[in-house]
Amino acid sequence: MVEFNFSKSNLPKQLFINNEYLGSKNSRKLEVFDPKDGSLVANDVDLAGEHDVDIAVAAAEKAFPAWKKMAPNARRDIMLKFASLVEKHGVALAELTRVTLGAPYGSFGMFETGLAAESFKYNAGWIDKFAGESYPQEDGFLKIVRNEPLGVTVGIVPWNAPLGTAGLKAAPALCTGNCFILKPSEKTPFASLALGPLIIEAGFPPGVFQVLSGDGSTGALLASHMRIRKVSFTGSIPTGKRIQEAAAKSNLKRVTLELGGKSPAVVFDDCNLENAITWTANALTANTGQVCFAATRVYVQEGIYDKFVEGYKTALLNKAKTIGDPEAESTQLGPLIDKAQFDRVSGFVERGRDQGTLLTGGSRIGDKGFFIEPTVFTNVNSDAEIITQEIFGPVAVLNSFKTEEEILEKANNTNFGLMAGVFTQDINRALRIASDFDSGMVGINCISLMFLTAPFGGTKESGIGRECGIAALKAFTDTKTIMINMTY
Ligand code: NAD
Repeated sequence: MVEFNFSKSNLPKQLFINNEYLGSKNSRKLEVFDPKDGSLVANDVDLAGEHDVDIAVAAAEKAFPAWKKMAPNARRDIMLKFASLVEKHGVALAELTRVTLGAPYGSFGMFETGLAAESFKYNAGWIDKFAGESYPQEDGFLKIVRNEPLGVTVGIVPWNAPLGTAGLKAAPALCTGNCFILKPSEKTPFASLALGPLIIEAGFPPGVFQVLSGDGSTGALLASHMRIRKVSFTGSIPTGKRIQEAAAKSNLKRVTLELGGKSPAVVFDDCNLENAITWTANALTANTGQVCFAATRVYVQEGIYDKFVEGYKTALLNKAKTIGDPEAESTQLGPLIDKAQFDRVSGFVERGRDQGTLLTGGSRIGDKGFFIEPTVFTNVNSDAEIITQEIFGPVAVLNSFKTEEEILEKANNTNFGLMAGVFTQDINRALRIASDFDSGMVGINCISLMFLTAPFGGTKESGIGRECGIAALKAFTDTKTIMINMTY
């Protein structure tokens, strides 16, 4: 039995294949850094190459027939045990994420570990309820529709919520009888790699649930693999497009894409002002703005614009006071993940100075690590890059508007369509706007939130397909129609 004894001083660095830790055959390794001071955390984390991928796929193919046929309650018990083990080791897993993500322990680190565990519990509950369909036999043929697992499936996840996004994919894949290979981000591999002992202890047979650390080259091998039947991807739009293309050029494997966002929050004169400020300020700063559905375009109706500006600025200045060492309990905002992300966000902020008026923030905090103030620009033209592009940091644009028609046009004038929010006490207007927003998710008097029970995902370039709820199970199955000749 492999003991779970991983921590910051005992990091998991090997691939988890067929219920064993194996050194990669690839001589290239991953380098990872601590974003609080930029120091090197490790330069010897395995990077799965072609040979490793092939071994894992072969193990998954071998495990699939028995896993698919396992009695539903036996599979459910394994899923539930795994969830309780993730909870039991939640503090250690969150630390393993924090060491390279920098997410503060209290506000985000534990949230996303808990999300992974909850996803296993929620999906375990579906195992004996994800029924098929049957259709009338009066035409002489009874039609039975079964939900069939696909086979070897893969989850490729980003760095911003490493274990949470892994749980959203692994749980529905496994509960529907698929084998699953997890490919964590090269920037946050440790919590995923540490799952090995928990996978074994929960009772997953060898080859059913495997973890391959690696970078985009590993992801590309998986996306183009001829014996992988599905890739569920969360990450950036350019990578999503590459994966879609690789899937099409290889074996037309199924693809789910959860991509970027530039979510508008539309705040009307008649809203509860305090509520609107609280949601929009939290939505910008959670995980230091490194959240796909963060409310980064805030539109406020003229009548309350000045009051909103004052309250939003104060709320963000208060947030800025909680920036600090991710290990400290008082810290709510950690650093950006790494130098590349810091340079990217800082670049947008610097160029933004010519695209609008800086209301608050705009500066680096300290000279070590990658800390940045929550930043807001006002009076920004609708074609400026800070309003059209995803920045993926705590940077928002705040503009005023006059009418409902005008604001719908502005809110929808984007290639993204992940989430939108409307703040008003007029229920008719709220529902009208909610149905006219071109986005996969809408909050009324709230924004930037999700539930495991309801579909999660975006329209337009924000993605294809949905996670969570029954949508996730459907995304990991194909239907099979069985036709029975009743006249024979
Ligand atoms: P990214 O696209 O750079 O990388 C995501 C993953 O894809 C990583 O594991 C990476 O190794 C892998 N990858 C890179 N190139 C690949 C290739 N050619 N083929 C296959 N895999 C490849 O994204 P990121 O920087 O890690 O994450 C930030 C992005 O993720 C943002 O755009 C954010 O909006 C998005 N995101 C979306 C959601 C959502 O649910 N919609 C949630 C979180 C993050």
